[in-house]
Amino acid sequence: MSGTDFGALDAVGLNLQAVFDLDDLPDHLRDRLLNTTDSPPGLRQLILIGNAGPTLWRSVCASDIDSNDPIDAFSVREANRWLDQHCPGHTQHRLYPGHAPVDLQQLGQLAGWHHASPFKLGIQPGWGTWFAYRVALLADTALPGTAPRHTTSPCLGCIDSPCVRSCPAGAMADGNFALDACIDYRQRPDSRCADTCVARLHCPVGEANRYDTAQIRHVYSNSLRMIARYRATAEQRSPEA
Ligand code: SF4
Ligand code: SF4
Repeated sequence: MSGTDFGALDAVGLNLQAVFDLDDLPDHLRDRLLNTTDSPPGLRQLILIGNAGPTLWRSVCASDIDSNDPIDAFSVREANRWLDQHCPGHTQHRLYPGHAPVDLQQLGQLAGWHHASPFKLGIQPGWGTWFAYRVALLADTALPGTAPRHTTSPCLGCIDSPCVRSCPAGAMADGNFALDACIDYRQRPDSRCADTCVARLHCPVGEANRYDTAQIRHVYSNSLRMIARYRATAEQRSPEA
């Protein structure tokens, strides 16, 4: 069977694609996706789309997308256009972006995109940590399944772990990732991580494919706002804490 033409997605920077037959997914993962989502019957495949490198952001900036979340809105629009073109008449159910319980990192591991870095972002040879999951959907398509990539974690051959050493919060100092230490530091007025991750910038893998500074600021400023909202809500719920 011939391969699927992902050229239109590649062109806008949605250049990671994987197609899974649902029957081939681990039972617990398939059951969770099908049993806890309000999805129509007849869905046979899971399509996972990601971006690697700076092209997606540049495509978003050059587009007419008008959204508070332009990367998500653009990615969904392009994924839908691609699916309409290649699988006309299909039925789909979008899992991500959305509220469905989809473990993107596990799917990324199955696709061979994802090794765990010390600061918990995924890392892969070539792109380093400069990639992300953008769209996951179930569909009644019959596309050829994607063979998983077989790669080794770049972290296994890393000398001196510059990410660990450079983190100003010491969030990985004891060999685990201390999320609270990271978040506490990010919220400090003098934080160097308000709109970036110093550790991520110090990783030498995929340096040539690093996101543009404007994208890094956009992503990390958004996440800091979400952290502030989440913590404020949690404090309101537990006023005695
Ligand atoms: S700096 Fe080294 S240990 Fe840290 S994420 Fe990069 S490759 Fe992995
Ligand atoms: S965002 Fe800052 S504090 Fe958090 S892991 Fe990255 S470098 Fe460390």
